[in-house]
Amino acid sequence: MSNDNTSVNEFDFQLVCEYFSSLERQGPGSPEMTSKALSFVESLTEAAHIADIGCGTGGQTMVLAEQTSGVITAIDLFPSFIELFNKKVEVKNLQDRVKGVVGSMDNLPFQNEELDLIWSEGAIYNIGFERGLKEWRRFLKTGGYIAVSEASWFTEERPAEIEDFWMNAYPEIDTISNKIAQMEKAGYVPVATFLFPETCWTELFYVPQMLAQETFLNKYVGNKAAEGLVAYQRYEAQLYAKYKEYYGYAFFIGKKISD
Ligand code: SAH
Repeated sequence: MSNDNTSVNEFDFQLVCEYFSSLERQGPGSPEMTSKALSFVESLTEAAHIADIGCGTGGQTMVLAEQTSGVITAIDLFPSFIELFNKKVEVKNLQDRVKGVVGSMDNLPFQNEELDLIWSEGAIYNIGFERGLKEWRRFLKTGGYIAVSEASWFTEERPAEIEDFWMNAYPEIDTISNKIAQMEKAGYVPVATFLFPETCWTELFYVPQMLAQETFLNKYVGNKAAEGLVAYQRYEAQLYAKYKEYYGYAFFIGKKISD
C-alpha cells in the first residue's frame, strides 16, 4: 500500500476483506444448517422474494437458491464480497433470479411488505439482533418468515475469560431463551430454534482458516495489521476450543402473522 492517503483503518478493512474472501464462508454454518432452517419455512412459491442480508460471498445463498424457486436479493456491505458472489451466480447460471447487491443492513432497498423471507446467517450482529429483527419486520409480508443465525450463550453463567471476550466483541450475545423472547417482542412467532453442531465452527470455519492464515502471513511478511488479524482469528479459535460448552451458534426462525 503506497498511497499515503490510505488510512490504517481503510487498509485494515481491505485486509479483512481479502482474508475472508479466500474462505467459502465468512461465519460458522453449513449447507445442512441452511437446509434445516429452510425446512421450517412454509409456502414459498416461484413468486417468492427472498432477501439474504449480510450474504458475504454467498455460501448459504447458493444453498437457498438450489432449494427455492423464487427471486433472491442478497446484500452485503463489502463490494469485493458481492463481486465474488455475482461471479458464483454466473457460474451456476442463476442470474435470472439471484442477484448480489452492495448495501447496508441499516438501509435496505426494499418496500414495505415486499419480502416472503428474510435470511441472515452470522450477520445480524452487525446491526444487533433486536434492532435488526425490529427494523426488518416491515419489509416482510404478513405470513412471511425470518431466519437468522446468531451467537448465543448455552449457560446462565460463564468463566470470566470468555465472558470478557464476548462483552468486548458482541455484548448483545445472550441466552437462547432471551433471544427467543426478543424475537417474540419484535413481533414474530418463534417457529423453531436449533443449535449448530461443533463442526460448523471447527472443520467448516476454523480449519479452512489455518491454510488461509499461512498464505496470508507469507504474503504480508512483517505487516503488523495482517499479523494482528491472524493472531485475533487464532485466539478466537482457541477460545472456542476451550469454552465451546458455554456458547455457540443457533438458528432462530420466526413468522410474522399480523401487520
Ligand atoms: N452470511 C455469510 C457471511 C457472514 S459474515 C456467511 O454466513 O458466510 C458477516 C457479513 O456481514 C460479512 O460479509 C460482512 O461484510 C457483512 N456486513 C457487515 N456489516 C454489514 C452491513 N452494515 N450491512 C450489510 N452487510 C454487512
